[in-house]
Amino acid sequence: MSEFVEREDTAVYETDEPVLYRVENGVAIVTMCRSRYNNVQNSQMTYALDDCFQRAINDDAVKVIVLGATGKHFSAGHDIGTPGRDVTKSFERKHLLWDHTNKPGGEFLYVREQEVYLNMCRRWRDMPKPTIAMVQGGCIAGGLMLAWVCDLIVASEDAFFQDPVVRMGIPGVEYFAHAFEMHPRIAKEFLFLGERMPASRAFELGMVNRIVPRDELEAQTLEIAQRVAEQPRMGLALTKQAVNHIEDLQGKRTGMEAAFAWHHFAHVHNEQVSGDKLGGFDGKAMAARNKAQAKEKGGDQ
Ligand code: ZN
Repeated sequence: MSEFVEREDTAVYETDEPVLYRVENGVAIVTMCRSRYNNVQNSQMTYALDDCFQRAINDDAVKVIVLGATGKHFSAGHDIGTPGRDVTKSFERKHLLWDHTNKPGGEFLYVREQEVYLNMCRRWRDMPKPTIAMVQGGCIAGGLMLAWVCDLIVASEDAFFQDPVVRMGIPGVEYFAHAFEMHPRIAKEFLFLGERMPASRAFELGMVNRIVPRDELEAQTLEIAQRVAEQPRMGLALTKQAVNHIEDLQGKRTGMEAAFAWHHFAHVHNEQVSGDKLGGFDGKAMAARNKAQAKEKGGDQ
């Protein structure tokens, strides 16, 4: 087998900005705006998010960063099927990793997912300024990763959280924080069933800080951000570092390393068994199941 492979780049390049950036009274507001695809994340969006975060860190006037999204849903995960899916495109990497695009077998995803998922999320989680996720609608799979890297999560009443990745034969998303975000027993239920967890349940578990009406989501989140922004910069940075360090002492970082390796064992296993790294996952079938489930429970999704 050759050390290199040719892959056709079939992505349709999107010219609209996938992420918007603005600053209001010391708060940077980073907004995902690929809402026509429920804000699923392609690499273009991931690197755009990173650029916005970098900009916010570099700006001394910015004290707090808010991450939100336009449209009905915060994020339906990683892009596994829009015309703008750009996994075969090479971007200027943010970590000391080699290019994944022309690599065979498991190397392709192993390198790419370290760069754009695991390392990017860990880098965002450790940003020295406080971050607040502002979540409405679906926060699914890769969407969880974006919310979980934030220090606080404010959710609207219609928000729900879901990791259906076990359906692909894979033990959850690449940033495996599940057993830190919720009790391990609940984390298992969340993963085994892969069902939607409503905001109210996420709040009970301490995964979400506040639940607010949908039409007050931005105003209430910005109000909290303003109050955090009144604290001294060093006080905030050191407090964040202290809490994150304690989580790491509890095994968050090393646990994630192991889960990432198992995640990739699953990708390779899938490829060997079915020829598809995602195990023949059918996103449309899942959406239909979700709809039926929500209908049973009287929801409108
Ligand atoms: Zn993966």
